[in-house]
Amino acid sequence: MKKAIILAIGNELVEGLIVDTNSRYLAQRLKEFGYYIVRTETLPDNFDIMVLRIKEAIKDADLIITSGGLGPTEDDLTREAVAHSIGRKLLKNEAIAQELINRAIKYYGKAPESVVKQAFVIENAEVIDNKVGTAPGQMLKYDGKIIILLPGPPVELIPMFESILEKLKTNDSLYTRRIKTIGIPEAVLMDEYKDILYSNSRITIATMASYERGVEVRFTGPIEIKDEIDYVVNTLLPKLGESVYALDDKEMHDVVYELLVKNNYTVSFAESCTGGLISSTFVDIPGVSSVFKGSVVAYSNEAKIEILGVSKETIEKFGAVSEECVIEMAQGAKKIFNSNFSVAVSGIAGPSGGSEKKPVGTVCIAVCSPNGINSATYNLRGDRQMIRKRSTLIAFDMLRRGIIKCQG
Ligand code: ATP
Repeated sequence: MKKAIILAIGNELVEGLIVDTNSRYLAQRLKEFGYYIVRTETLPDNFDIMVLRIKEAIKDADLIITSGGLGPTEDDLTREAVAHSIGRKLLKNEAIAQELINRAIKYYGKAPESVVKQAFVIENAEVIDNKVGTAPGQMLKYDGKIIILLPGPPVELIPMFESILEKLKTNDSLYTRRIKTIGIPEAVLMDEYKDILYSNSRITIATMASYERGVEVRFTGPIEIKDEIDYVVNTLLPKLGESVYALDDKEMHDVVYELLVKNNYTVSFAESCTGGLISSTFVDIPGVSSVFKGSVVAYSNEAKIEILGVSKETIEKFGAVSEECVIEMAQGAKKIFNSNFSVAVSGIAGPSGGSEKKPVGTVCIAVCSPNGINSATYNLRGDRQMIRKRSTLIAFDMLRRGIIKCQG
């Protein structure tokens, strides 16, 4: 199996100011394409450290990928460090230089000298076109190894990497399927369906349980047993029924969106403790305007009463975190936005605000559908963010189940 090392470069990564999502993405894609990931490293913008680690990486792997440090500023040193590590020169590519100058003049009215720094290419390296940003990537062969330099911004790195993936193909490509579930505990799922899950010893089974996404079961094996993997997945799916909310790359909100589109339904939200997170998650989907009417973030009791029309008595009698209240919130949103479905959430995300009867993590959700109203109360664990994210997932799940029921 071919070995790969990923070097994520940038002080802001080392200092924890940004999260290194590039390594995660690269590692996952490389694994699918049959690479063994020896390690991923986070390095500062320090020339000596970079040279040291690049040399070590060349010793230990067949493929080395760097991310970041390709910009025009003083601290962007990846090109220089790679060139130095393998004893090659940096040569100015006149065509790229001219393009960078023209671009800078177009956008800023002038071209500082530093922009041309990005036009320096390591001797014998192939240039990888950057369709989104300015710094081109580079790919070169050295001592039978491949070294790839990619820019830091994920919006630039991902399409550039995808454009060269074909060239990195190995004979060990993997095939992966993912089943995403909600409502079945991981241990129960693995125990109850072990006969199916472990029916083929060539398939590796892994589970990932997360509070924000439920339990995901991953089936991986060599590409030549693709049909066998699909067979196991297809055997398991009907057994899990509605607990399966999505497959492979799809997310819960994608599935909800598709169900709404398929049935020509619209939805609106009334959010209290999620503070707009449900709407914001939904709006991540391009084209969502065809099914999403709008939402009300009604955080205070007054907003629940005055905007959504929740009755004062309901709040006084049952509290703002009650099924009675979320039902009225959902009814209010449905009326305001004239949607087929509406979802309302009210809960105690903490850290304060809990009581013995309603501790932090108490979350009430209601879904109004053309068929009627469904509501539930959950006792969620975790900190404020986890509770808000879990509430969002459950709200979408209740909506998903509501739509499925309506379509018969
Ligand atoms: P640019 O030309 O934009 O400066 P660059 O190759 O020099 O590109 P960096 O300056 O290292 O890239 O990083 C630019 C930005 O890209 C960072 O501020 C950060 O937002 C994002 N970024 C960099 N590295 C990563 C990473 N490993 N994971 C996620 N985002 C990253």
